[in-house]
Amino acid sequence: MVTTSTSVTTTSTSPRSSAEALSASGPNRARLLGGVVALSTGKAEGDLRVPGARPALTPSRHLELVARPWTMPRQVHSARVLVVDSPSGPLAEEADALVSCRGDVALAVLGADCPLIGLSSPEGAFGVVHAGWRGLLAGVVEASAKRLVDLGASRLEAVVSPFVRVECYPFRRSDAALLAQRYGEAVLGTSANGEDALDLEAVVSAALARVGVPAPVALGGCSACGGQWYSHRARGEAGRHALVCWQE
Ligand SMILES: [Zn+2]
Repeated sequence: MVTTSTSVTTTSTSPRSSAEALSASGPNRARLLGGVVALSTGKAEGDLRVPGARPALTPSRHLELVARPWTMPRQVHSARVLVVDSPSGPLAEEADALVSCRGDVALAVLGADCPLIGLSSPEGAFGVVHAGWRGLLAGVVEASAKRLVDLGASRLEAVVSPFVRVECYPFRRSDAALLAQRYGEAVLGTSANGEDALDLEAVVSAALARVGVPAPVALGGCSACGGQWYSHRARGEAGRHALVCWQE
């Protein structure tokens, strides 16, 4: 179970699960169910992409942050989930979520505005999800939760990395309507400039709720206006921050 010696500091306005955010600045860590730790990086930790990886060794900058190989999928905005059975560096396989119950692997996904979700269970089954709007529409969160239940998870809790919030995410209403059909009208929002916008926070919470998972603890704010994180939408940045999860 979760240790309770550290005070909770989180910027989340969502209902809190039992996840504990251990730091409010810099690389943001949370301790999750089953002895799993989540690390959410920012620009301070640098661009964590692996150019030309397939399959490649884990770069030293990854190992400096988490000292075991980072298993990472080739992200394609799908609902494909891979079960990781052994430690490895970046995978050649395409997927947008990884799950495992092994104690010797580190699972990672990258983003620059897309929500990156960490999931964990008391039984130690855990996972990471790259949850952009296309993946969310395809059901990547629900697919990931189902695979974790298959691995023995009795219940799940979630954390989410910094991602673009509704005020900074003008979005075509015809595409947003597809998400509203699946997740409800609450996903339709308005940007700070009064444009039609997508509320990814509402989408993520609704997707998790469909599989019985409480709203995630947020490990940071808006990637677009926050400044500490990479943003493709706001600044056209090519760099990527990471969410890494492992058992400790
Ligand atoms: Zn913003």
